[in-house]
Amino acid sequence: MDIIKRFERYIKIETTSNEFSNTYPSSDKELVLLNLLKDELTEMGLEATYKNGFTYGKLKSDCGKKDTLFLMAHVDTAPDASGKDVNPSIVHFDGSPITLKNGKVLDPKVFPSLEVHKGHDLMVTDGNTLLGADDKAGDALIMDLLERLIERGHYPNIIVAFSPDEEIGRGTEGIDVDFIKKDVEGKLIAYTIDGGQINRFSQENFNAAQAVVELFGTSVHPSIGKGVLVNAQELAVEFHKQLPEFEKPEYSADREPFVLLTGMEGGIEKATLRYILRSFDLSHLAEQKQYFKDIEAKMNEKYNSVRAKVTIRDQYFNMKEIIDKYPDATLIAKEAYKKLGIEFIDDPIRGGTDGAMLSYKGIPCPNLPTGGDNFHGVYEYLDLYEFNQMRELLTKIADLLK
Ligand SMILES: [Zn+2]
Repeated sequence: MDIIKRFERYIKIETTSNEFSNTYPSSDKELVLLNLLKDELTEMGLEATYKNGFTYGKLKSDCGKKDTLFLMAHVDTAPDASGKDVNPSIVHFDGSPITLKNGKVLDPKVFPSLEVHKGHDLMVTDGNTLLGADDKAGDALIMDLLERLIERGHYPNIIVAFSPDEEIGRGTEGIDVDFIKKDVEGKLIAYTIDGGQINRFSQENFNAAQAVVELFGTSVHPSIGKGVLVNAQELAVEFHKQLPEFEKPEYSADREPFVLLTGMEGGIEKATLRYILRSFDLSHLAEQKQYFKDIEAKMNEKYNSVRAKVTIRDQYFNMKEIIDKYPDATLIAKEAYKKLGIEFIDDPIRGGTDGAMLSYKGIPCPNLPTGGDNFHGVYEYLDLYEFNQMRELLTKIADLLK
């Protein structure tokens, strides 16, 4: 099947994940695509299984290769924009602004990253929904690779996994690492395919924690407040102001860390501040946690009672720690880029990935791109030239396995 047709077939299925749901997958809609992929895998002759939110496919090497290629992509799309009735079109991008069907404009002045796609055909939205290249481009690339390799022959062992709920941070909740590793004899070379521009390979991501700060006031009628009333909201302001002034996302890029106030609520009696802490460097994440502990201690001492309470929880860790010990997937990808003459850029992810989670569950798993960009909104697009280059890159990677 033509990969563009395949991609269009997947993006027509609405699979928005639901952050308010307790079920897994978080939305029944995701099951429609998970089941379709299972049927397609079976049709291709793979051993296909649906298990706890995941569709898996296993293919044994037809030429006695020992190593196994593991590829994973997610089926859900981000709740930030609608994924219903996606109505794409293909336009040739000559460098001038692209007017989408509903009149919105995809403008290189607003999105400077468009520059590298000049001269390519892009698949764009009609301006009302996201496109779903994140991550159905990944789904399509995986299915397309299987189809082509089976037809051509001489392939390694391949295991594929399609995951739910990546966009709401629950992507690897149901993954069965033992099931994946069960029949693996040689090396397990694993990647997620969930990135952007073709050059950008990611083997590094943030270390992440969250902090909740509770402030406790003393409420009395303001008329008799003098020397008695303690306003929890004032305590919250006092607490926040003691954090580093410039270690914030609006001052942070590349490998720089940040602390972000994500929520605040409160009254006189009690106030709560919520933060996320992000750093590529684990020892710096520890320092960030210490900011909170120090301010807590300082304020409680100043007021001579428990006015501030800090609770910190780790969220995810930088996969680089693991990948440095098991660099095979990175080395093979680098080699494949080189063979195709495509520039390889080591691109740290300023967030987390399912591959990062998986790396800490025992499968070192860097991330490959898809050729898509501007994810999670109506300006999302897929560069079809890069999408095609990705097909070649995946073939090269598969061929490099022993
Ligand atoms: Zn994604």
